[in-house]
Amino acid sequence: METKEKLSEVKNFIDGKFERNGQKPMNVESPIDGSIISTIPLSTYADVDKAVKAASEAYKTWSATTMKERAQIFFKYRFLLEKNIQELTELIVLENGKSYGESKAEVEKSMELCEFAVSLPQIVSNEVQEVSLGVECRTERRPIGVVASIAPFNFPNMVPHWTMPNALMLGNTMIMKPSELVPLSVVRMSELLKEAGLPDGVFNVVNGGKEVVESICDHPGIEAVSFVGSTRVAKIVYKRATSNLKRCVALGGAKNHLIVLPDAHLDMTASNVVASMSGCAGQRCMAASVMVGVDKVQHIIDKMVEDAKKIVPGDNLGSVISAAAKERIEGYITAAERAGATILLDGRGATVAGKEGGYYVGPTIIDYVTPEMSVASEEIFGPVISIIRAKDLDEAMDIENSSNYGNAAAVFTQSGGLAKQVMERASAGMIGVNIGVPVPREPFSFGGWNESKFGVCDITGRSSIEFWTQNKKTTIKWNPEAKTNWMS
Ligand code: NAD
Repeated sequence: METKEKLSEVKNFIDGKFERNGQKPMNVESPIDGSIISTIPLSTYADVDKAVKAASEAYKTWSATTMKERAQIFFKYRFLLEKNIQELTELIVLENGKSYGESKAEVEKSMELCEFAVSLPQIVSNEVQEVSLGVECRTERRPIGVVASIAPFNFPNMVPHWTMPNALMLGNTMIMKPSELVPLSVVRMSELLKEAGLPDGVFNVVNGGKEVVESICDHPGIEAVSFVGSTRVAKIVYKRATSNLKRCVALGGAKNHLIVLPDAHLDMTASNVVASMSGCAGQRCMAASVMVGVDKVQHIIDKMVEDAKKIVPGDNLGSVISAAAKERIEGYITAAERAGATILLDGRGATVAGKEGGYYVGPTIIDYVTPEMSVASEEIFGPVISIIRAKDLDEAMDIENSSNYGNAAAVFTQSGGLAKQVMERASAGMIGVNIGVPVPREPFSFGGWNESKFGVCDITGRSSIEFWTQNKKTTIKWNPEAKTNWMS
């Protein structure tokens, strides 16, 4: 495969050029079959510093362009994503292991994120008001400078597009740190941005792991840090970046509860719950992880098992990211079994013919889970759903509310009144009513509550405008005769 050869060595992208950094590279593996597909440099503070210098220099001219000029580049870029969608999709399949359809949907979502970004000149309006006779106050949204974006492995193409288009459209320059497990998509993203006409230094990529993240948090030339990943690392990044006086939004892990009521529509509910828990092999921060079955829902559970049996690893179910992930997920299933839960469908030990070196876990449904079991409270991040039985909605809400996380929650019912109760009482940032993956679409913003997000703003949509800008307030008087009527 041509792409495979071209991307056999990932380099950093600094000031519009790909470059080696002299450090010993790390292998990148494809989870589909365990083969080595590339290498990446494990960068250091010196690489981040070099990227910050390039981004600071580029900021001087980029921040002085108009939003409408920047939008022209992002129009072109959005169409380049579309033109190259097949190659970009294949890259996601190769490095992340998700199915072709899921990978293509990821690129399509990136295109939609660019569409929102090019609409920013219509949305970001400044304010002006005559506050005293002959005196006006105005507020303008200005960029903040060099910003950073740190990404996880589960959406190699989409998550970088949560931050990059809006941050750049608003006049900032950026250092991107992709996950070391999936660095290939961002290589093509860098090339396509350049092809679209983005000036050198506006977008830079520094590859690696922990050391790069720590350098980003510490570097005095970086004004803001956005992070998406696990809660454990989100806490580290949020504390370190803010203690260095940067603004930070850090999105963490999830344990999403779907509350299923007995009146829920049978087919729609079963297919939605199964799609939510197994899509992208359960490696979505919006995936269903706990189903709280209220009262008599056995018929829905039976249908879920029937539907889930049609989900086959290597066919319509991709791999999980690594050997360690497979081991962790299977360990959770075994722990639940030992603790007395009932495994209705068991995905352990899945293999795919011809891809024996790949990391596959089949869809898994665990019933009669109790709140103290690890599968009830910890993020599994695999195609596994734990069913907890509740006698009524109050008990279901107590279970949902007791989670440390709060990314998403959903209710399945045909009763508007009961749905409204869940909308009001769920302790989560994104709520679904008869929707298993309630991702808000732009201009609505994406972000959870509790330990699923640290920081004030959301990461996409309108809320991100606040994060990527600072307000400049100007008070103006041109008329020497004007008698101001306030203290000055
Ligand atoms: P991760 O936290 O392991 O890694 C995320 C980033 O942090 C990577 O770029 C990695 O290199 C870096 N990193 C890892 N360990 C570090 C350390 N000790 N110090 C500093 N940096 C470190 O997450 P992951 O496994 O790549 O992604 C899966 C996680 O991301 C899941 O928990 C999932 O729920 C979460 N996620 C959340 C959202 C959301 O919107 N809330 C979206 C996608 C993924």
